[in-house]
Amino acid sequence: MSDFTNESVSAIETTLNDVDRALERLRLGTYRTCQVCGMPIDDADLDANALLANCRTHPELA
Ligand SMILES: [Zn+2]
Repeated sequence: MSDFTNESVSAIETTLNDVDRALERLRLGTYRTCQVCGMPIDDADLDANALLANCRTHPELA
């Protein structure tokens, strides 16, 4: 674990936050819909990234 850097910790925390938000959206029934416009997120995009929170139109706010 000698190469376990603060950068690694930060990346893991970011991933954990994304998982938390995905689980919250599952509970609220808004998983698979864009957080910005509420449109359904493409299935292919969710296959590529199950934590995706935004449609292709709003990727910068994911
Ligand atoms: Zn959108």
